[in-house]
Amino acid sequence: MTASPARETDVIVIGGGLAGLSATHRIATSGRSVALIEKCERLGGSSAMSGGWFALSGTAIQRRAGVEDSDARFIADMVETGAGSADEELLQRLVERQIDAVAAIDRADAWTDELKISAGMTVPRAHLIRIRQLLAFLEEKAVAAGAVILHSHAADRLAWDGARVHGVRSASGDLLARAGVLLTSGGFSRSRKLIELFVPDQVAAMPYGGVGNTGDGLRMAWALGAGVADIGHVAGTYGQSPETTDDEHELLTANYLGAILVNAHGERFTDESESYKVLGSAVLAQPKSMAYQVFDSVVRALSKPGVPLSDMERIEELGHLVRVPTIAALEERLGIPAGRLERTVEAYNEGVSGRHGDRFGRTGLVNGVGALVPVTAPPFYAYPAVTAMTSTFGGVSVAPDTSVKRIDGTRIEGLYAAGEVVGGFHGASYMTGTALTKALVFGVEAADTIVRG
Ligand SMILES: Cc1cc2nc3c(=O)[nH]c(=O)nc-3n(C[C@H](O)[C@H](O)[C@H](O)COP(=O)(O)OP(=O)(O)OC[C@H]3O[C@@H](n4cnc5c(N)ncnc54)[C@H](O)[C@@H]3O)c2cc1C
Repeated sequence: MTASPARETDVIVIGGGLAGLSATHRIATSGRSVALIEKCERLGGSSAMSGGWFALSGTAIQRRAGVEDSDARFIADMVETGAGSADEELLQRLVERQIDAVAAIDRADAWTDELKISAGMTVPRAHLIRIRQLLAFLEEKAVAAGAVILHSHAADRLAWDGARVHGVRSASGDLLARAGVLLTSGGFSRSRKLIELFVPDQVAAMPYGGVGNTGDGLRMAWALGAGVADIGHVAGTYGQSPETTDDEHELLTANYLGAILVNAHGERFTDESESYKVLGSAVLAQPKSMAYQVFDSVVRALSKPGVPLSDMERIEELGHLVRVPTIAALEERLGIPAGRLERTVEAYNEGVSGRHGDRFGRTGLVNGVGALVPVTAPPFYAYPAVTAMTSTFGGVSVAPDTSVKRIDGTRIEGLYAAGEVVGGFHGASYMTGTALTKALVFGVEAADTIVRG
């Protein structure tokens, strides 16, 4: 829907992904006027492209599956994943307000029964949500409650009156905000300049994520002195096919089901149970910045059609999964010198059988959890994959109520931020599903903060 610009409104929300829609919905249903401006023709950003995994603890789905989880364990896992450098006040608020995420997913009827353990978790906590259904629900309800949504309307600058942010400057028309401006403009995965500036070792990662995610919110906030958090830890995700298009994201983590990772020389180089962000950096350092996920028919049988990260059927359909009867044939197909991969697999299998410890310290399928399986049952498979910059989990500094903080810790009056544009939650690495949970929860938190005044 395209509407004519309202000159003045209570709140302006910049960016129409999950965080922006979550906030817009909450503000509109609380009776305040709100304009959501979106740079692209379509809403959705990275949220609409995402796998739809949400990290949540203490849910009915976990209870039904007999999974014992708690808020304290969720926080402890995030602190551990972030190597102690995540902001615990933000984590506390994230976990406390999960209830808002659960309520929104309930209302949108967007749950599936899929629950799994993934990067950074010590118990299954990743819940698969029908993300597009959730986004469509929030948009529809927000518009029904009076929100104005302006497409192809990029924010260029924040308007500052000397005391507070009071609006947004845009080539498509300036807007004024009586109560506040909320940045929900996503990360900078599509900005080569910012990747080069902050994490030059990640430049070879394949750019991905929403096409509008070029760090505009970060730049606008910096211009007013905003601080940043976690940015130096931003890393790409390993497991994406180099053939992936914007329309279909092809990501597989067969390593969390038992696959090993080998480089173009047929050699292992890491503990495959590590977070796919840690693996992303390890793979960038390998020849041709790629690695094969190598597995056998036992792991192949664990595929879940239609479930992001575990769908081998789709990858096979697309012709991106190599299948051969022997490891020797795999060497031939992948151009690995004869005998090299055989020796790698043999050494790995000996480690799994307990004859000696694993060379790279692998003790489990994911994060040290889950029994390892040998690579022995033909046919054998290989999936060539690279590191992709899907999201950038560092960004502007905020207080737990989403107020943007300056580099000296003081607040920038009238300016709030939520979603991927924000840093501080993840520290040194990233737990699967926390980006979407963070976007949904802090969209609500930002709305409540602004509406409260
Ligand atoms: C392929 C893929 C899979 C993923 N899978 C998962 C997953 O399963 N679980 C998980 O937790 N995370 C996942 N992520 C990360 C997660 O999707 C994002 O971190 C999250 O969706 C960010 O939400 P957001 O609302 O902050 O930003 P986005 O959804 O990216 O929305 C930001 C919006 O702001 C707009 N915008 C930017 N600049 C401007 C401007 N100047 N003016 C106006 N609008 C602007 C953009 O065009 C965009 O529409 C995945 C990411 C990708 C790319």
